[in-house]
Amino acid sequence: MGVMFARVIPAEAAGGVSILVQFSAALVAFGTKGTVEAVAAHEFTHYVDLVRRLSTKNVLSDETEESLYGMAVTDPGRTVPPKLIFADKALVSLVSRKFKDVLADPSLNKKVEQEWVAKGLPVRWVDPSETVARIRMGSVAAARFDPRVLEKVASIERKLER
Ligand SMILES: [Zn+2]
Repeated sequence: MGVMFARVIPAEAAGGVSILVQFSAALVAFGTKGTVEAVAAHEFTHYVDLVRRLSTKNVLSDETEESLYGMAVTDPGRTVPPKLIFADKALVSLVSRKFKDVLADPSLNKKVEQEWVAKGLPVRWVDPSETVARIRMGSVAAARFDPRVLEKVASIERKLER
């Protein structure tokens, strides 16, 4: 069991799909600037991965509008390598240093344990079923994403093919 400081959730919205990024209050309150930056950048790699998977998902004609597309959202491998996204080398090394699959920041964990959990501040348990998002095929097919992110996804695909 670990502390979840942030997550990226795809959800149906306005007939398509919108992608939400949530940050926990404890991260914002106790994270160092470097940690918050690393978490934001790491979540962005999940976001780009989701856009990549959703935009390249070929919706087959025999899949009905109502059938569900399930996608894993917390699989640690479900990111795009930071070096394929960010031109800023310092940021790439910050993310790689802070994340070993999940955020590795023992002093933040300790602070949150003492200053948040032990003081009875609100804690929410995340159910394992929440690690998979279910979206109707019709919404996946109708999803429209930021053209700049799609351009980035196309350039990442080219780099991965090499
Ligand atoms: Zn992650």
